[in-house]
Amino acid sequence: AGKNEGKGQYRFFDPALSNTLNSRARLKQSMLEAIERDQFTLFYQPRVDVHSGELLSMEALIRWQHPELGIVSPAEFIPLAESTGIIVRIGEVVIDQACAQLAAWRDAGLRLVPVSINVSPKQFLRGGVQRQLSAALHRHRVPASLIEVEITESAMMGDHDEILAELAALRALGVKLHVDDFGTGYSSLSQLQRLKMDVLKVDRAFTSELGNSKEGKVFFQAIVSMAHALGMSVVAEGVETGEQLDILRGLDCNEVQGYYIARPVPAAGMQDMMQRRFLLGAPQVASAENSA
Ligand code: C2E
Ligand code: MG
Ligand code: MG
Ligand code: MG
Repeated sequence: AGKNEGKGQYRFFDPALSNTLNSRARLKQSMLEAIERDQFTLFYQPRVDVHSGELLSMEALIRWQHPELGIVSPAEFIPLAESTGIIVRIGEVVIDQACAQLAAWRDAGLRLVPVSINVSPKQFLRGGVQRQLSAALHRHRVPASLIEVEITESAMMGDHDEILAELAALRALGVKLHVDDFGTGYSSLSQLQRLKMDVLKVDRAFTSELGNSKEGKVFFQAIVSMAHALGMSVVAEGVETGEQLDILRGLDCNEVQGYYIARPVPAAGMQDMMQRRFLLGAPQVASAENSA
């Protein structure tokens, strides 16, 4: 704003733009330092069977433990990491930490369940994920069956050859493939079945509609029955209330994830849940979001 205000005439850059560039450059630089200084860490959120509440898997969600800012959420840095390509290096950290954590839990004698990793399409270029993942699995002596890969529905659009090739390579490696944020993109279920996706994770926008409208329930029901007919299983993301859980049980959704079951926690907190194993019985995991 105000480029004709007189005083600023000698400037080449809009100050807002130049600030943005500066802070983008700063953020980019501090992300690189964060990799070197080991500031990225994984939180884990359980995914459980809708009926029994048995822990079936857990999603690894990255956090940046910033020395001044505290815990920074991925929404703050993943977009810039993607547009600068740094996501390839951050993704490698995530893959290595997830495999290292599985190995540590194995060595501690815990009954293991798979860890689900989020990947961006940028990481798929030149076979990156498959290469990084096989190396990490080998390094930590962890079987590929303990890793699942989540890719958002919108990232899968466009049939990029690299994405198709990488999905095939991951499948050959033995990892299960999940469609993340399903319902927010424009893919068809038959297309996803052709890509041999194993699991649909329905976006939490649809879960939150469940108690609110008849349409929300009908929509979810349609997804579940089509997914099942095509051999895919269904996870509801963002389950926050007991009412949503009850509806999802009635709809024959397979698995649930969300604050009602547990918030994402550091590895130590996940270890407790691995030992409890059934997470929907009493004692319920405390959740600030609802009053069950
Ligand atoms: P996502 O993969 O769809 O992950 C689910 C997000 O929903 C997580 O946010 C999780 O904390 C949040 N969530 C879980 N249950 C509930 C609930 O009941 N209610 C509400 N309101 N939210 C819930 P988070 O951890 O902030 O991650 C946001 C996004 O950042 C992820 O969405 C994923 O797309 C991306 N992301 C996270 N970790 C990574 C990573 O390691 N690599 C990449 N490339 N992306 C990541
Ligand atoms: Mg995810
Ligand atoms: Mg999601
Ligand atoms: Mg998401």
